[in-house]
Amino acid sequence: MANVFAFAESRGGELRKVALEAVTAARAAADALGGEVHALLIGAPGIGAKAERLGRAGADVVIVVEHPALERYSPEVFTATAAERIGSGGYRLAVFPASAEGRDLSPRVAAVLGVSLASDLVSFELQGDAVVGRHPTHTGKVVTTVRFTGTPAVVSLRPGAVPAAESPRAGRVEQAAPALDPGAARVQVTALTSRAGTKLDLGEAPVIVAGGRGLREAANFRLVEELADAFGNAAVGATRAVTDDGWRDPSTQIGQTGRIVSPNLYVAVGISGAIQHLAGMRTARTIVAINRDRDAPIFKVADYGIVGDLFEVVPRLTEEVRKLREH
Ligand SMILES: Cc1cc2nc3c(=O)[nH]c(=O)nc-3n(C[C@H](O)[C@H](O)[C@H](O)COP(=O)(O)OP(=O)(O)OC[C@H]3O[C@@H](n4cnc5c(N)ncnc54)[C@H](O)[C@@H]3O)c2cc1C
Repeated sequence: MANVFAFAESRGGELRKVALEAVTAARAAADALGGEVHALLIGAPGIGAKAERLGRAGADVVIVVEHPALERYSPEVFTATAAERIGSGGYRLAVFPASAEGRDLSPRVAAVLGVSLASDLVSFELQGDAVVGRHPTHTGKVVTTVRFTGTPAVVSLRPGAVPAAESPRAGRVEQAAPALDPGAARVQVTALTSRAGTKLDLGEAPVIVAGGRGLREAANFRLVEELADAFGNAAVGATRAVTDDGWRDPSTQIGQTGRIVSPNLYVAVGISGAIQHLAGMRTARTIVAINRDRDAPIFKVADYGIVGDLFEVVPRLTEEVRKLREH
């Protein structure tokens, strides 16, 4: 019997969606192995209250590390603590999110342990003594299959690729101390600044409504915002054409040189579907495109396409979404 480790990312005392996704993916692997899921939760005192939620997602054990100096991510302390646990726990596999934090943390942990890492996977499974994972490359046009052996294997999972599910387990809490004194860390994260412009984080939102140059000018982004508000759980994204022109904050840019997102629903408004944009959103579960050019490349990846003038289509769509939510 081999157990699986999952890193449960939190921010500001709250679990991030990717924490539940990592535990969900770890649960599937542990079930295949007949083992347990052990989730590591690090934060300021009080973070342990979130252990129950991780249990519901499938964690048998939640290792809670609380320290007043660990309210924010600390690369050295988190690396030392995760590596010590993974190294001593006899785990077959360790699952991290490929979020900004996870992309910093997982290679550090793999390097300390001297083991293999496969990053930004959209799925993976255990096949005999190997882990086989899939990772989109070449701006998402190619999916590379990676197969690697060695224990423990470290993987990071693209946010949104494995939807969080419920698979209730005990979530037994084990208190632990940081493996490195936070006061001795050379790097201290002193502040976390969230950018204005989008109410919901693009990485967390189940729905993204994104706008492109077809909107003609910054003020018309109001149409995109109203549609996002109608959904109630949507974030607003943009193309680089739009962020370069200063219509939207660069932090909302989606694509090869912006954010990579995998929401349940992606609504592309007046976006041509350049390859660099597709690289950031083609793994969304359902894609809806609104464009007046029926030959626009965005329609090649869209599940639903509306050929029409966005200035007519979007207000009507907003109205329909509002009506649906009212009933
Ligand atoms: C190295 C590099 C990296 C890049 N990285 C990114 C990136 O990360 N993200 C990104 O988005 N781009 C990126 N780009 C830019 C990319 O190549 C495109 O230029 C950009 O995505 C185009 O944005 P757009 O779709 O908003 O604009 P356009 O390509 O101008 O498309 C506008 C669309 O709106 C439609 N339209 C116009 N009026 C209406 C209307 N009234 N109703 C309905 N539809 C209408 C048009 O038919 C058209 O299809 C990168 C480029 C390079 C070279």
